Amino acid sequence: MTQANDPTLQSWVDVPEGSDFPIQNLPFGVYKMKDRSPRLASAIGDYVIDLFVLAKHGFFDDLDIDRKVFRQQYLNDFMALGRAKTGAVRNRLADILDTDLENWDASELKDFFLVPMSEVEMCLPVKVGDYTDFYSSIEHATNLGCLFRDPENALLPNWRHIPVGYHGRASSIIVSGTDIHRPKGQQMPAGADAPVFGPCKLLDFELEVAFVTCKPTNLGENVTTANAEDHIFGLALFNDWSARDIQKWEYVPLGPFLGKNFASTISPWIVTLDALEPFRVPGPVQEPAVLPYLQYEGTRNIDLKLSVEIVPEDGQGKVVSESNFKYMYWNMAQQLAHHTVNGCNLNVGDVYASGTISGKEKGSYGSMLEITWRGTEPVDMPDGSQRKFINDGDTVVMKGYCEKDGVRIGFGEASGKILPAT
Ligand code: CA
Repeated sequence: MTQANDPTLQSWVDVPEGSDFPIQNLPFGVYKMKDRSPRLASAIGDYVIDLFVLAKHGFFDDLDIDRKVFRQQYLNDFMALGRAKTGAVRNRLADILDTDLENWDASELKDFFLVPMSEVEMCLPVKVGDYTDFYSSIEHATNLGCLFRDPENALLPNWRHIPVGYHGRASSIIVSGTDIHRPKGQQMPAGADAPVFGPCKLLDFELEVAFVTCKPTNLGENVTTANAEDHIFGLALFNDWSARDIQKWEYVPLGPFLGKNFASTISPWIVTLDALEPFRVPGPVQEPAVLPYLQYEGTRNIDLKLSVEIVPEDGQGKVVSESNFKYMYWNMAQQLAHHTVNGCNLNVGDVYASGTISGKEKGSYGSMLEITWRGTEPVDMPDGSQRKFINDGDTVVMKGYCEKDGVRIGFGEASGKILPAT
């Protein structure tokens, strides 16, 4: 077992009941605050752990890591150290925060390296090079096939053979808490014979989980399902905002464009694949059998509970979806093997999103398009209003956590508020 994953570990830092950040999590992110430039951090309870302060005091000296790596605006240089070294940093943090200290008491230094989360601003954790969005939930792909094509042939013929995906836009990936103006664009209203221009009327979220790569490949090289996870640093929550009316008019024949690239919200903490090890579960049986390069061994899905809440301005929120990352038909190893099978190269800091994660039941759908069945079954909000899609002033909050053997590994949240179109 990875040392930091030991469920019996207890920290001398107070970790409130139900916290996303027990000693067994220790995710990585970047924070800044007044008079303190961006630097790398981890999290425990209600505190961020300043990794640069710990590095300056020599806590990582024997790990042979340049201290400058910890005073950066992004995690990229740290991630590029590779999973063995970053995993060693995580284990060292568990040592420092564990109550069973033998030789020294790090709690004497706590005022230097523990900062209340309420006092910091979390930054975009990764300088995103490329962003790829998959379409790997069979329930979501089936629902969309029913809504837009033919319920009898909802899945397109390629779907069970290829982890379908497309290249998204990296520049508009924003950290949780960043407001978004309602996008404008062309739409073709039903029955009209010419398009109109204006604010999107069908603004939607997409509940997704993204992974970030930490190990590059050369052009022409491919990764296998067996070694793909060496390239994966960790996971975050991801809201791939979608303008359905813009999307519907523009997407033929080349796929998503302005209906997608106006914003995607990522949570600030990257939860390491190491921390998620105890929560692996088998994925769905893939029928028919996939081609050899997509076959895999081991347990590759992750039991990660997900939720989406819509919070109106000055109003009470409502959870509109409870889903789970374990539903994914195609796993991350298959996605990376497919992504590189043609020789496409990977870089440190690339973001790969799962695609909307829907479960089988109505309460587990990952977009308003599915939840309200294209607006035909609106959601009742606590204030008496209804939602077919997302209104101006609404904040969409995505949360996620794994839980087993009394250990809860949380992801924080990916939230974003919709402001009126400019
Ligand atoms: Ca998406």
